[in-house]
Amino acid sequence: MQTSHVIVAGAGIAGLGAALASVRSGLRVTVLEKAESLSEVGAGLQLGPNAVRVLDDWGLLPQLESVAAEPQRLRIMDARSGRTLAGMDLGQAMRERYGWPNLTVRRADLQAVLLEAVRGQSQVELALGQALSRVEQTPEAVAVHTSDGRMRRADALFGCDGLWSAVRSHVRADGAPRATGHIAWRALLPRSALPAGVAPDQTSVWVAPRLHAVAYPVARGEWLNAVLFTHAGDLHGASQGEEAGLAAAQDWDLDAQRQALQQAVSAAHPALRALVDAAPLWRRWVLHDRPALLDPRGYAQGRVALLGDAAHPMRPHMAQGAAMALEDAQALAGLAARDGAEGLPAALAVYADRRWRRNARVQLRAQFNGMVMQASGPLRWGRDLAMSLRGEKLLDMPWLYGFRG
Ligand SMILES: Cc1cc2nc3c(=O)[nH]c(=O)nc-3n(C[C@H](O)[C@H](O)[C@H](O)COP(=O)(O)OP(=O)(O)OC[C@H]3O[C@@H](n4cnc5c(N)ncnc54)[C@H](O)[C@@H]3O)c2cc1C
Repeated sequence: MQTSHVIVAGAGIAGLGAALASVRSGLRVTVLEKAESLSEVGAGLQLGPNAVRVLDDWGLLPQLESVAAEPQRLRIMDARSGRTLAGMDLGQAMRERYGWPNLTVRRADLQAVLLEAVRGQSQVELALGQALSRVEQTPEAVAVHTSDGRMRRADALFGCDGLWSAVRSHVRADGAPRATGHIAWRALLPRSALPAGVAPDQTSVWVAPRLHAVAYPVARGEWLNAVLFTHAGDLHGASQGEEAGLAAAQDWDLDAQRQALQQAVSAAHPALRALVDAAPLWRRWVLHDRPALLDPRGYAQGRVALLGDAAHPMRPHMAQGAAMALEDAQALAGLAARDGAEGLPAALAVYADRRWRRNARVQLRAQFNGMVMQASGPLRWGRDLAMSLRGEKLLDMPWLYGFRG
């Protein structure tokens, strides 16, 4: 059987994961990435045991552990009083429960681990500065056009080109992603700069009406990654017109406004306020998502499949977007290598069928979590009561972390 050739559009976590998994399954891969160089801005990612299991399958656990941190506990706090609402052991407890650890990394470190693994494979060509602009397909092949006027043929195309995917319009013409109305503020702080009251070795979550924050160690515990979520409409000093522009912006690395953030946390517990003051730089990211696809049709068409944010961009309140991208990559690569080039359309259809329910479940749950974390009134009261009565049972999610896809 001849080796099938796959084009992967995008070299983010989904694209690098898909390239690595595909070549490990015996496919030949060309990765087209529109950026001239792969430089990730500083931010963190939580990797649940389900994501770490995939990276371990690809032989990357030692490399990952050498750059990651492993928070020992998850603690949910009221952002105003600082009172602990619920907690759960992570660290060894997660390893024992799920077989793999819960790790936290700088995104750039994960991308570097994946990139090194991809570069070590002779059957992968990585073409930077190549933006996919158009796709055509026949029953036998796909033709991928790039903005420099080149055209490449392959047996299949894996669209891993993120939230603003160009490949998606070929598979499912459903317009642009929607702004959720939230802003994520992201910062990295050296451990030495952490204020009192912010624990360096745990995952801390603060919840309040219309505001919540998450912080966890990265880079072997040398840095803390912090994210605060506010409502775009609550930003002080911005006119409605500016807000509309902000909500439409595709660039998440907008010029941060520390004062607006300080205003947003002015009623918060001193530890959270001190965290905002201590960070050297806050970057602002306008959140977008898409409604969950509730059937497999939007995932694949013929020889073209979508993975990661191109397929299911989600709110970050489950910390699982990258994890789902890695699971997609593993599932698709295994299927795509099974029946040769002729079998690819059928394999892609099976991939769509295998992945849509899980991705939709995580997407919907992420949306729900965001609402619950920022709840006010009776919902907030009910949340706090449920946390105090059922704490760990609510925070642990065997269906998510124990997945063996
Ligand atoms: C605030 C925040 C916190 C998060 N925290 C977590 C977390 O803790 N854990 C977790 O698992 N997930 C988390 N996520 C989600 C996670 O970041 C994303 O789901 C994940 O990075 C998606 O990866 P991707 O490869 O699909 O897309 P991207 O990372 O967006 O990569 C897409 C790539 O495609 C390239 N590209 C785009 N268009 C083209 C084109 N036309 N041609 C060629 N290349 C193209 C881009 O340059 C880019 O390199 C978080 C997200 C946010 C916003």
